[in-house]
Amino acid sequence: MFSLLPWRQARSIYDLTGESLERAGVRLLLADLDNTLCPYSVQEPDEALRAWLADLTAHGVTLFLLSNSRKPRRAAHFAQALGIPYLGHAGKPKTGGFAKALAQQGKEAAACAMVGDQIFTDILGANRAGVRSILVEPISLAGNPGRYLRYWAELPMRFLSRKRAWNREGEG
Ligand SMILES: [Mg+2]
Repeated sequence: MFSLLPWRQARSIYDLTGESLERAGVRLLLADLDNTLCPYSVQEPDEALRAWLADLTAHGVTLFLLSNSRKPRRAAHFAQALGIPYLGHAGKPKTGGFAKALAQQGKEAAACAMVGDQIFTDILGANRAGVRSILVEPISLAGNPGRYLRYWAELPMRFLSRKRAWNREGEG
C-alpha cells in the first residue's frame, strides 16, 4: 500500500525494547543503518547498540540490517561486526530488498517490522511491502545540507503520525 505514514513513531531505536517488540508479534526487525542504528560517520557498533541487540535476541527478535548505503562494504562490515544478517544496496523504497530479507529469514510480512529514520525510503518501502513501519528521529542531521531539507519535507508526515507513538500505544 502506498502510504507515507509510519505505523508507529519512536524517538530512537532504544525506545523499542525486546519485550515490546515480542508483545507486538515482531519476530524479525529490519533496520536501516545510517542515522538509525548509528550516525553516518561511525564505522563500528558501540556498546549501547550491542546491549540493545542482546535484549532483542533474548526476546526472540532477529535484527536484520537493510541498508541503502552506497559506500562499498559499509553495511557488510557493520552487520558482520554485530553478527547479524544484512542486505546492502537494498533499493528502498522498492520492495525487492524487503522480499529478499523475508525470504532469507523464512518470515511472513506480518511477523516483521522495519525501523528507519527516513519516510521516503524506509517507511514508504515498508508500507509497500506490507511490513509494519517504525519511524525514528535521525541521530544527527549535521554534515550534509540535504539531510536538513529531507527532514523538513518529512515534517508534515512526522506531525500527522505523532499521536501513534510507540511508547504510548506500542502494541497492536
Ligand atoms: Mg537512514
